[in-house]
Amino acid sequence: MRLDRHHELFQKSVRAVLERLVMPELDDWEEAAHMPTHQLYRSLGEEGLLGLTLPVGDGGLGLDIGYAHVWARELGRLPAGSPAMSLSVQTDIVLPLLAEEGGADVRATYLRPAVRGELVAALAATEPGGGSDLAAVRTTALRSSKGLRLNGEKAFITNGSVADFAVVLCHLREAGTDQDANRPGGLDSLALLLVPTNLPGVYQERYTGKLGNRACDHGRLTFTDVVVPEENLLGRPGSGYEALTRVFTRERTFLAAVCAARAETMLDRAAAHARGRAVLGRPLLEHQAISFRLAELDAELALVQQYTEAVFHLLDESAAALRQASIAKLRASRLEREVADLLLQVHGGEGYLNGGPVERAYRDARAYGLAGGADEALLHLIAGHPRTGI
Ligand SMILES: Cc1cc2nc3c(=O)[nH]c(=O)nc-3n(C[C@H](O)[C@H](O)[C@H](O)COP(=O)(O)OP(=O)(O)OC[C@H]3O[C@@H](n4cnc5c(N)ncnc54)[C@H](O)[C@@H]3O)c2cc1C
Repeated sequence: MRLDRHHELFQKSVRAVLERLVMPELDDWEEAAHMPTHQLYRSLGEEGLLGLTLPVGDGGLGLDIGYAHVWARELGRLPAGSPAMSLSVQTDIVLPLLAEEGGADVRATYLRPAVRGELVAALAATEPGGGSDLAAVRTTALRSSKGLRLNGEKAFITNGSVADFAVVLCHLREAGTDQDANRPGGLDSLALLLVPTNLPGVYQERYTGKLGNRACDHGRLTFTDVVVPEENLLGRPGSGYEALTRVFTRERTFLAAVCAARAETMLDRAAAHARGRAVLGRPLLEHQAISFRLAELDAELALVQQYTEAVFHLLDESAAALRQASIAKLRASRLEREVADLLLQVHGGEGYLNGGPVERAYRDARAYGLAGGADEALLHLIAGHPRTGI
């Protein structure tokens, strides 16, 4: 998968769409800490942007993974992190999962409408008791004659309070066996269950007051005796962990590209400001302390971009790449944070003011040290520790 002139043409058209549909409203959305998620998804669905790499039979465009890379980079160029954070869940986490693991009913009822932007998706893995440790998952789906009875609670879920359905990480238990006791299960009982949020017993609640990505919705989900049809179970029995591994591989690769694009945009902004602002009679850029720091971060950016591109190649070849994707996401998100810090630093007091793009970039940059796998959880995996971490 090499990015060719078709990808370049696509990049231009995506940029034009985002400039038309997102840019004019973005500052207002951030200020109001709210974006019209359903409306935005419908508009982007009409442009075909929610199913780039999905099979044509599922309503997608059937394009190669290079188009997802371009999409990630263009979302990363936006001057606020919220759209990328919300949309990445739809386009590069949940919908590819449904296309790979969903049965005919799931594809017809959820996947196709979600590709059109008529439904908003969430991935609900984290629980109040812990997000980095799969052994901490307590949510349970108990098989009964009526379907799967779901009980549990999920926390910090992107799109959580606006989603029309959530893919929920849970333990699958058989009724009438000693498995149904209320105790934690092993990796082999992990399952991914598609749960429509309009079912009785589902409760969605929005978090208010966040450090960054303020327009993006984050919510808490509670499931109390929710009866979910058996056909909403994704994948084969016992394949939940495998499916999760694939989900995290694509998610982390995509997020690495978003973070790298955000770092690039901020570096350009920092360099432009350093060129125009004089201190001690010469531009900041001519002070070695600043120019070397910019150069150092620029060099790191080049490496992160190359590495991330290489991980997209692995995805294109359907190779196992969870470790590589975790490395890319770890380094890209750390780089984003470092660049955000420098950007604020070169802007001096002006950068510290509430509501400006510099302050917002600094706040937004903090998220991916946690979301998509906390840094230390990724290091745990990269170090090759036993597979209990997310
Ligand atoms: C903006 C945002 C969006 C999110 N979106 C989603 C979503 O859509 N779906 C979803 O399921 N979750 C989501 N999350 C939750 C996120 O995945 C978790 O916050 C993350 O996995 C950490 O889990 P935790 O918060 O429970 O912290 P804990 O698991 O309690 O970990 C606390 C801290 O411990 C450290 N730590 C973790 N593992 C190790 C280790 N092995 N060794 C040493 N130290 C370690 C890390 O510093 C970590 O931050 C989101 C979080 C944020 C902030």
